[in-house]
Amino acid sequence: MRWALRSAWVLLAVVGLASQSPTGSAFAASTASASAAKKGTAAKPAASDKIVKITKTEEQWKKQLTPEQYRVLRESGTERAFTGKYWDNHATGIYRCAACGLDLFDSKTKFESGTGWPSFWTTIPGHVEEHSDMSLGMLRVEVLCARCGGHLGHVFDDGPQPTGMRYCINSASLSFDGKK
Ligand SMILES: [Zn+2]
Repeated sequence: MRWALRSAWVLLAVVGLASQSPTGSAFAASTASASAAKKGTAAKPAASDKIVKITKTEEQWKKQLTPEQYRVLRESGTERAFTGKYWDNHATGIYRCAACGLDLFDSKTKFESGTGWPSFWTTIPGHVEEHSDMSLGMLRVEVLCARCGGHLGHVFDDGPQPTGMRYCINSASLSFDGKK
């Protein structure tokens, strides 16, 4: 009889660490790329969430604006009271920046200030910037278009409710878009 040499085979029973996929294939990766039906989704006009600034050279502004608009918007000029287009405008609509077209004021917030300049008690939110202005030797708050930086006028705290503010704006800085 032959003694079978018994090599001690340690049978490392490879415990089937079953990397078996659980019942049902795990191919869940059906990447539903969202090229879904976007029919008729008209591109929204860039909302007021974020204003993208417009920068132009003074030469470009000069070409685009009338001399009076340029003097007011780019040189912080002030039109003479009761001479502008809009101080006595009572139509319904939106007042836009005469330089870049951004909505600035709603006619619903316009009021009769008696100053000879179009006056509003608030702005279209986020579309107007306010900076302190020490010219003429007094502290005033200058109002500028948030998109192109054009000078619009000043804001004072002697306006009517509900805000108590008076945005005193040059007609030359505005372009009125009436509602039909
Ligand atoms: Zn503007």
